[in-house]
Amino acid sequence: MTCIRVIIDNMSKDNHIKINHLVVLGRPNSGKSTLINTLLNQKVAITSPRPQTTRINRTFLYQSDLGQFTISDTPGIMGKVRDTLGKAVNKQPKKQLDIADLIVYLVDISRPKGDEENKALALARLTTCPKLLVYNKIDKAVGAKNYLAQFNFLEEEFDDCISISALKTTHTKALLTKIFQLLPPSAQKVTPASTSNSPLLDINSEDYLADLIREKAFLKLRKEVPYTVNVRIDSIESIDNLIKIYATIETTADKYKKMIIGKGGSMIKNIGTMARKELELISQKKVFLGLNVVTHKHWQEAYI
Ligand code: GDP
Ligand code: MG
Repeated sequence: MTCIRVIIDNMSKDNHIKINHLVVLGRPNSGKSTLINTLLNQKVAITSPRPQTTRINRTFLYQSDLGQFTISDTPGIMGKVRDTLGKAVNKQPKKQLDIADLIVYLVDISRPKGDEENKALALARLTTCPKLLVYNKIDKAVGAKNYLAQFNFLEEEFDDCISISALKTTHTKALLTKIFQLLPPSAQKVTPASTSNSPLLDINSEDYLADLIREKAFLKLRKEVPYTVNVRIDSIESIDNLIKIYATIETTADKYKKMIIGKGGSMIKNIGTMARKELELISQKKVFLGLNVVTHKHWQEAYI
């Protein structure tokens, strides 16, 4: 299996080639990260049913016969945040707007429109570049759970519109066609990545690994505990067919540390096993994952 291709922000600046840049915006949980994984046909962005799983803008490279573009996953803006982390996360998406060639705005039509939607919309309205409106979760938005009518008024603000299910991959090919229709034509005639010197990060990328472990923590931990968690990669070593990774899970209080470790270490074991299995699948190697949990009250201050 090929290595995960994750590219860092500002790639086009470094490479002196014009590559169109897409920015995915939408309220928390609208399916932004899921859509990116579907478009790229591989799991590059972490996802979970919890808001703020994505904390930092991450940029990836899409390539196919249709052409190529970079695409940024952004965190959805949360309402009423008072903590340092929440405030820093909320500032992330705006950083992408100046370099966007196309905004892909995702609406979760299985939930009613709310204050968070207005915040996300306000961001999308800040840019004059083309905008594509994407109604997501059509598989879930059935019967009384379909709130499409609350969003129809947006269509005149956007250049085009499509209904999809990012999770079930419904109409995502048609979405790609629309994306290429709206992008400036240069996107179809750039250097193929095989001959460009894109700064590709592979599976050993610390950020990627830390995100993946945090994703499992978000899936397993309950209530407020996931939001107290940060993952730090301490070391990565590749020996023949084995990747040895040591990582530390930081949390803000001892009571959370206890919950993350779980009874007899059961919770941390669960998180570690889930992460290890996914890493083994991606890398096609054996993975050893050593996880340690520490209390670090102020990790959020040093985060972004
Ligand atoms: P983000 O916060 O916008 O990045 O949202 P995520 O991609 O993390 O997705 C949030 C949740 O919505 C996850 O549990 C996804 O599995 C789910 N989800 C995303 N797209 C769809 C979809 O098309 N249909 C359904 N039923 N669920 C979806
Ligand atoms: Mg996300």
